[in-house]
Amino acid sequence: MHAGREDLAGLGVHVPPIDLSSTNPLPDIESGGLSYEAMASGGMPNAEGGAVYARLWNPTVARFESALARLENAEAAVAYSSGMAAMTAAVLATTKETGRRHVLAVRPLYGGTDHLLASGLLGTEVTYCAASDVAASVRPDTALVVLETPANPTLDLVDIRAVVEAARGVPVLVDNTFATPILQNPLDFGASMVLHSATKYLGGHGDVVAGVIACDQERAAALRRVRAVTGGLLHPLGAYLLHRGLATLPIRVRAQQANAQRVAAWLTTHPSVARVHYPGIAGDPHGLLGTQLRGTGAMISIDLLGGYEQAKHVTSAVSLFTHAVSLGGVDSLIQHPAALTHRPVAPEARPTAGLLRLSIGLEDPEDLMTDLDQALATRGRVPVTAGATHA
Ligand SMILES: *Cc1c(COP(=O)(O)O)cnc(C)c1O
Repeated sequence: MHAGREDLAGLGVHVPPIDLSSTNPLPDIESGGLSYEAMASGGMPNAEGGAVYARLWNPTVARFESALARLENAEAAVAYSSGMAAMTAAVLATTKETGRRHVLAVRPLYGGTDHLLASGLLGTEVTYCAASDVAASVRPDTALVVLETPANPTLDLVDIRAVVEAARGVPVLVDNTFATPILQNPLDFGASMVLHSATKYLGGHGDVVAGVIACDQERAAALRRVRAVTGGLLHPLGAYLLHRGLATLPIRVRAQQANAQRVAAWLTTHPSVARVHYPGIAGDPHGLLGTQLRGTGAMISIDLLGGYEQAKHVTSAVSLFTHAVSLGGVDSLIQHPAALTHRPVAPEARPTAGLLRLSIGLEDPEDLMTDLDQALATRGRVPVTAGATHA
């Protein structure tokens, strides 16, 4: 609520100002040059020289960064124009700093991340493995281990501490998009970097595309160096909206989670649904729920008995849910991972054709269940009632 706003009273204002300057007047060549130098090497602008140029540093973005860092128990945070820009910077910074080019990725991952690593576009070589195989798969040239928990789209839970131990000193990046800092703080379990697609819960209203990484000061400096050189910075208007969004993040997450718990429990009883993927309903062999992960969250995936054909029907039959990719906003969304968000993933690792992913919002949960029930009913109940009719 208050992080990133500490100086506002002194400025005589109540809400953070938005600084849209792309460039800043220079007091003189020397101080401007020194400030430029400080920022290009990953530091802060100095008081005399100022911010120089907005690709290097922006005060509105810095407010959001300091608030997010506080939420993640981190020394610093660095914000980008998207989650994928943040992931790109993390890979570039770590490979540059370590001089290594192997990335170990624990599947499942968001389709865009999986694809970025598989493409080799950043000069890296990737190995995909299960969380239990990290120790056996880490190599002398491994620069980074990447994981998601809960993972997109199957909500698999990964034991962060166990992966950190298995990585034997190689930095571990945890994508915390699904959990949010309200439900999980990966740095507390030994992760080196925590990444968010801020597009999702942090923004929370479907009107910002952004990414952010929280970490220690040294890594933040390396990430800022990459951002200064490659761009990919967050626009101050987006940063303002994200900073505002953080103020309601705890109540949004808890209210969406309460809705999701009701919807998930109801879905387990639905005759069209073969399986519900939701923390606490799916297995939790490592006992991570209640320890590493403080809540079940508001993302649900379901396997439909009717497979792809029924999934296609459901996405077109819903009326309160919006059939759209993305997640974490105040309104509920439904989408088919295999065809959309996870489309670029190699076939052997792609989600199944009968899987739908639901992002539960703030609507009345009764209304959400009524909508899902009518969408699932048309075809979904066919096998069950047909069996009963024949009998
Ligand atoms: C959406 C998403 C991303 C990518 O973020 P963008 O803001 O779309 O670039 C990364 N990780 C997860 C888990 C996501 O859901």
